[in-house]
Amino acid sequence: MSLEVLEGRSCGSCTACCSFAPIRVETLQKPANSLCRHCAEGRGCTVYDVRPAVCRGFYCGYFFLPELGPEWHPERSGVVIRSESFNNDTITILVLELTEFLISEDFAGMVGAWVAEGIAVEFERVGPEGHLPAKMRVNELLEDAVAARDLREMHKVFAWSLAHIDQSHAWERDETVFYSALA
Ligand code: SF4
Ligand code: SF4
Repeated sequence: MSLEVLEGRSCGSCTACCSFAPIRVETLQKPANSLCRHCAEGRGCTVYDVRPAVCRGFYCGYFFLPELGPEWHPERSGVVIRSESFNNDTITILVLELTEFLISEDFAGMVGAWVAEGIAVEFERVGPEGHLPAKMRVNELLEDAVAARDLREMHKVFAWSLAHIDQSHAWERDETVFYSALA
């Protein structure tokens, strides 16, 4: 998968990755699924000029996949495509919010196309604050519905998979303690 940032893509006022991502570098450490203390509501990063390289260089999948239209922007969709998974020819879809986008044709059509292409597709949830995320592969669950182009059945699988992660996963606390040498 291409890792060239597409022209015209921007974060806007999204700060999702300042929250869901764990950071463990020398100058900044924070647990997964907890908002970085340098992220201020409405202002974004308050240490922007000195933010660590891991923040400067991070782009979610929306920046790389031309097939994702504006409706896929994390702020609108409530989902983040994890670019870290591209190395394994996998699409990991982090579902931050259960929005109407999940029952849209845009979402089902794109997920169905990935499954039909043989790309591994995973759904991921963040769980409780300060805990590590959990994910599951959904290809096998979706195969029949995708082959039949049955959107209703696909939506059922989406809902079941997300509920299954939320209800059955033993969430593991991220023991990282917040630390910053930036301010
Ligand atoms: S999740 Fe994507 S759009 Fe949102 S802040 Fe991170 S890189 Fe930007
Ligand atoms: S240092 Fe800034 S960019 Fe990095 S996680 Fe914190 S608020 Fe976000």
